[in-house]
Amino acid sequence: MAKGSSCFFKQRIVATGPTPVPDFVLTAEMSSVFYHRGPAFAAIMESVKKSLPKVFGTSGEVLMFAGTGTLAMEGAIANFFNAGDAVISVNAGKFGERWGQQAKVYGLKVHEIKVERGHAVKVDEVARLLEQNPDVRGVLIHASETSTGVRHPVKEIAALAKNAKDCLTLVDGVTALGVFQVPMDDWGVDVLVGGSQKGFMLPPGLSFGAASARAWARTESVKSVRYYLDWRKERKALAENSGAFTSPVTLIGGLKAALDYFEAEGLYNVYARNWKMTAATRAAAKAMGFELFVKDESSVSSACTAILAEGLYAGEIRKRYGLTMSGGQDELKGKIVRVGHMGYIDAWDVANQLQAIARVAPHFNKKVDGAAGMEAFWKVVESAEDFTPAEFKGWPK
Ligand code: PLP
Repeated sequence: MAKGSSCFFKQRIVATGPTPVPDFVLTAEMSSVFYHRGPAFAAIMESVKKSLPKVFGTSGEVLMFAGTGTLAMEGAIANFFNAGDAVISVNAGKFGERWGQQAKVYGLKVHEIKVERGHAVKVDEVARLLEQNPDVRGVLIHASETSTGVRHPVKEIAALAKNAKDCLTLVDGVTALGVFQVPMDDWGVDVLVGGSQKGFMLPPGLSFGAASARAWARTESVKSVRYYLDWRKERKALAENSGAFTSPVTLIGGLKAALDYFEAEGLYNVYARNWKMTAATRAAAKAMGFELFVKDESSVSSACTAILAEGLYAGEIRKRYGLTMSGGQDELKGKIVRVGHMGYIDAWDVANQLQAIARVAPHFNKKVDGAAGMEAFWKVVESAEDFTPAEFKGWPK
């Protein structure tokens, strides 16, 4: 029950991760406590091995690691670069900043592009840096920068890197995979990583990594210290429907259920509903009288929508209404509030968040039109339109 209220409020997690875990995932987890080298678990691995690459848009394998997304980000650095290698790191928020820091820890020479918060990186800027630094061996970029709700032009940047000499594109897809389209093979992305507690609707603790043939060829010449993080071990084990170490069997059992659900609903439909929810949230925020943090429609991520709301703290919403939403992080603390709309989140979950913002706003001296916001929200939700951006229409089939 939320404190400070005489009314009953269930505690609901509608954050930008972890996202709600559906009952069918929880049930699958509970019934997957198998021996990790036995036939029952091998059957789960075999199924996951077939369906997980579809979410990545790759014909290659997708590895699984017992650890959160940051572990997969670190593994991507450890497996594909040597100390002293130069990389470009796009820092448009907390998670872009983190990847650059990880690269520095491994002794990489990092050319950081610091992007104004709320904006995507400019393709020209990456092109200029690549031209000025022909020794760059990789570009680190986020498909979706969760801390701001920005989507970067990954396709264009992967094309640039492909034209540079021996330069890989590494993409953090933690809040893109299972949320919106990241066709790894089509775009020429070399390394794509993800995590369990966002679009995959699982609890935290599992992460993913996929690599192109180019990247796998590079790893043989990489000398960085790695044992648990050595992706080659996981690749070898996966070929045998197993993991290199003791697999997190319950999470992988839950993953199978989540992937079966994607299969039943159709990945395109999963993505389309997130795009629609994004459009509805943006329309609602504007109708309420808020300014959106990401103004450029072509840079919008469908994982979450950041609303400019100086002084309106997400923690207050949790205390008053039991709704765990995400606020701003670091320099954005107390400046934005983020509406989560990825994973197992339906229109009511999003409507609740918008209602809560409208209810709490007057306590922070914000005058908003909650009713107009709700009207705008439902108008989009109930329309028959497909809000998928043109570049993604029809993919995957
Ligand atoms: N990358 C992005 C885009 C994220 O949103 C997050 C977590 O929110 C991470 C990386 C880090 O993932 P984890 O906290 O699972 O290590």
